[in-house]
Amino acid sequence: MRLKILGTRGNVPPSAPHYARHSGILVDGRILLDLGEPAYLRYRPRHIFITHLHRDHAAFLRTEVRTDAEIYVPEHTSRLPVARVISRPLRSGPYRIVPVPTVHSLKVRSTGYIIERGGRRVFYSSDLVAVEPRYHRRLRRLDLVITEGSYMRKGGLVRTDPASGRPFGHAGIPDLVEFFVGFTSRIVVTHFGSWFYKDVAASIKRIERLGDGVRISAARDGLVIPVE
Ligand SMILES: [Zn+2]
Ligand SMILES: [Zn+2]
Repeated sequence: MRLKILGTRGNVPPSAPHYARHSGILVDGRILLDLGEPAYLRYRPRHIFITHLHRDHAAFLRTEVRTDAEIYVPEHTSRLPVARVISRPLRSGPYRIVPVPTVHSLKVRSTGYIIERGGRRVFYSSDLVAVEPRYHRRLRRLDLVITEGSYMRKGGLVRTDPASGRPFGHAGIPDLVEFFVGFTSRIVVTHFGSWFYKDVAASIKRIERLGDGVRISAARDGLVIPVE
């Protein structure tokens, strides 16, 4: 598989060259994971899988979009009634796409996606507090994990809903690395928060230093990652 990270900026005001666009990952030019920018439709993907209905991942929430692609979402939205709700794995040609429910928000459902092709397995977590233990089996033997970088500090920004006791927000990058090393030896971080933009070069180094025995790196807009 050949992955192209189209955008690496989280839902934050700061921006920088090569770290400016919102979430989107193109797989082999035909599958798009998240539609953070309407401009990504220029790649003419056949399938689009949305991780959750936040505006930096689903541009159709903030503007009208036109596409022939089949769009999959974790829950129905009146903003795009033609989108299909995905709840189980599906096949498209040589690909198998496996949704993995995630913990992130109280208001919207969220799911990461495993993309499989030819025995290779890549997981894109998108915004994340945690993956519930009952779904951990699905994450075994991943060739690559692409996860989020909203917060560098351990613990990230996770709050708890007093009514339901459910956590929501974003885990810190160190927490995510600690979790995903159990499933992969290669991690790419994207979806950067404000912390990243204060000193981009230093932030990239801080991310790389977290790799203790695993390959960990920071994405940038347009980064191509071969997985073979
Ligand atoms: Zn986000
Ligand atoms: Zn989000």
